[in-house]
Amino acid sequence: MYSIGARELKGVVCGLGEPAFRANQLIGWVYARPIGAFSEMTDIPKSLRRTLEERYRLMPFCPAAKKYASDGVLKWAFEIEGGGIIESVYIPGEGKDTLCLSSQAGCALDCAFCATAKVGFRRNLRLEEIVGQLMHAVFELGRPAIRRIVFMGMGEPLLNVENILRAIEIFTLPSGLGFSPSRITVSSSGVVPGIVELAKKAPGVGLAVSLNAPDDERRAKVMSIAKKYPLKDLFEALRAWARTTRAPVTLEYVLLPGFNMALEDAPKLASLVRGVPCKINLIPFNPFLGASFRPPSDDEVDAFANRLLAKGLRVQIRRSRGLGALAACGQLGAGLLAGPRRLKALSG
Ligand code: SAH
Repeated sequence: MYSIGARELKGVVCGLGEPAFRANQLIGWVYARPIGAFSEMTDIPKSLRRTLEERYRLMPFCPAAKKYASDGVLKWAFEIEGGGIIESVYIPGEGKDTLCLSSQAGCALDCAFCATAKVGFRRNLRLEEIVGQLMHAVFELGRPAIRRIVFMGMGEPLLNVENILRAIEIFTLPSGLGFSPSRITVSSSGVVPGIVELAKKAPGVGLAVSLNAPDDERRAKVMSIAKKYPLKDLFEALRAWARTTRAPVTLEYVLLPGFNMALEDAPKLASLVRGVPCKINLIPFNPFLGASFRPPSDDEVDAFANRLLAKGLRVQIRRSRGLGALAACGQLGAGLLAGPRRLKALSG
């Protein structure tokens, strides 16, 4: 049932001769209250419960295969139909407890600094697999424990944009989980048509774009998607985004020493983003086995951040140290590489 939104549900209940308000009641049961069986829906007529039971499954995406914790961070691995594992991560933090969701099994992109890229691509996640990740966290932790949702897990969300849009619709149902769109962020490598679509259909959500280099030439060296959507097109879409949504864009910038964080890259970055309301999120590279970059030192990070600040940019440093190697930014999929046996060992 995690793939069912308000409109479909209304269609279902009306088709069964029930009044339309039952749809809202059901949304409450399916999304807002953690129950395991239709029989627990006490204010729904028995006959409707029976019909629903015959036609639908309540928790198709449960249980999680495994759960890991370090520093309060939880990571769940789910086995998906047809084989493969996807992951979601819960990161508690002062007033912004965040759940990081996957949008695809593996990733079709080949970003040189990302562990998921090494896994390859299996398939787009289905709607119920996206919603199911959140529902599982809600069942375990309770709805209040989750303040923000970010599509920053495995995969490129805007290459699965239909399902991401439908998931957002479900997450924001007032009689369901009731997330404000402003607490949901979609992070993209810069898929321009997807950004346009998102601006049209979900302008209230946050947009983060992985920039990672101050010019096309370097960007294309680490993210081949940059060849398809060069910075000129990307920034045109970002300007349009800011105009439509009246909200700034977050530009993510993975700090790769020797590649994109020389002091003279700061003014380049500043002139690239001029005129685009944005904040820059600096992410020190998280290393993984076989990676061809090293993480920057704190001094290197501070020096680059200060140069950007001096240029008048809004800058944040996202340090994921302490998250545990396999739950940090860009690390989803590393467990998949290691295989289930290693996952089990890590959880113990
Ligand atoms: N495909 C989407 C979302 C997944 S990656 C995107 O590209 O935005 C989420 C963020 O993690 C991106 O900003 C990405 O640049 C960053 N990232 C990927 N691998 C990383 C690594 N090894 N260290 C630090 N950040 C990384």
